[in-house]
Amino acid sequence: MVKAKAYSAASATSPLASSIIPRRDTTERDVQIEILYCGICHSDLHTVRNEWSSIMPTVYPCVPGHEIVGRVTRVGSAVRAFKPGDLAGVGCLVDSDHTCPNCRDGLEQLCPNQTLTFNSPDKHLGGVTYGGYSESIVVDEHFVLRVPANLNLAGVAPLLCAGITTWSPMRRWGDLKGKKVGVVGLGGLGHMGVKFARAFGARVFVFTTSAGKKEDALHLGADEVIVSRNADEMKKHIGSFDFILDTVSADHDINAYINLLGRDGNITLVGAPEKPLAVSAFALLFGRRSLSGSIIGGIAETQEMLDFCGKNNITADVEVIPIQKVNEAYERLVKSDVKYRFSIDMASLKS
Ligand code: NAP
Ligand code: ZN
Repeated sequence: MVKAKAYSAASATSPLASSIIPRRDTTERDVQIEILYCGICHSDLHTVRNEWSSIMPTVYPCVPGHEIVGRVTRVGSAVRAFKPGDLAGVGCLVDSDHTCPNCRDGLEQLCPNQTLTFNSPDKHLGGVTYGGYSESIVVDEHFVLRVPANLNLAGVAPLLCAGITTWSPMRRWGDLKGKKVGVVGLGGLGHMGVKFARAFGARVFVFTTSAGKKEDALHLGADEVIVSRNADEMKKHIGSFDFILDTVSADHDINAYINLLGRDGNITLVGAPEKPLAVSAFALLFGRRSLSGSIIGGIAETQEMLDFCGKNNITADVEVIPIQKVNEAYERLVKSDVKYRFSIDMASLKS
């Protein structure tokens, strides 16, 4: 067992603070990674504050972080795809059963026996898994991603969750070229959704509650920005969208967006608010519209997304912070004040 520096929360109401956590010795299939950057996902905050207590209660201490980029420091004897010195990425998953129908189809994110990067039972050390707000991590080779060498690493980290979570449902929808696509919420996920929708050739419309993000949204690739609190702006788009991706992290009126879908249009939820959303049956019935959900993506699909980003020079727009500013960053996340992902420079853990 190795001791590693980390930041953890001791309870739902305590700030994240410096701590020491155990990491397992590398087994033959393991890759040990020195973490360079870790993105801050709103899921980290939901978990640290136990906002998903009815679905996934948080076990404390909690070390969040599932947008991990680093350098390989050691590999087990059976590892073939990585060697010390390689760049490596780790997202939301660190294990699955490899045998269920979902795993066999490359859909590890749907495996009933998956192990999440943090707050999942840890098969090796007992207790729960600890995430990326840490100097190192040890992960089964299958769940380690290759990182394109040409990209800015601080901006790559968020691809491991915000990137794949928005990529996967858009790819699954089909060819978005020329389609009218909406992205609701311009935060970490939303801004990646805009970049990908643009790259796929869609006509991209951003719905935001923050009028101040309008210019940025256009720079990120939106064709038009709609301030969702403005009923007149919303009305103009009724019945016109092919696909809408909803990334909102808090309670909101989803029917306002369902009504914007055209015939057979689909709205996919990736945002995971604490409280259930009220859905109007009529909003779905008229127009034969559908509402779906999507969770991250499989490992092969995540690699495909990273390779695409390497080829097309796509990364997240990040504000790099030292780990000592993590609690401040959480407060800003709650206020939708993020442009557009915080990425923690893990070298700051040493100071
Ligand atoms: P984020 O960076 O905080 O962005 C969320 C955005 O939602 C905000 O920037 C804001 O955008 C909008 N928003 C916030 N409160 C709102 C409200 N009350 N009403 C309307 N809009 C509001 O969060 P994130 O990291 O992108 O994550 C978004 C959600 O996705 C979280 O719930 C997270 O847990 C979930 N998530 C799901 C998956 C998955 O696999 N399905 C993966 C990662 C994250 P504007 O300022 O533009 O309005
Ligand atoms: Zn996430």
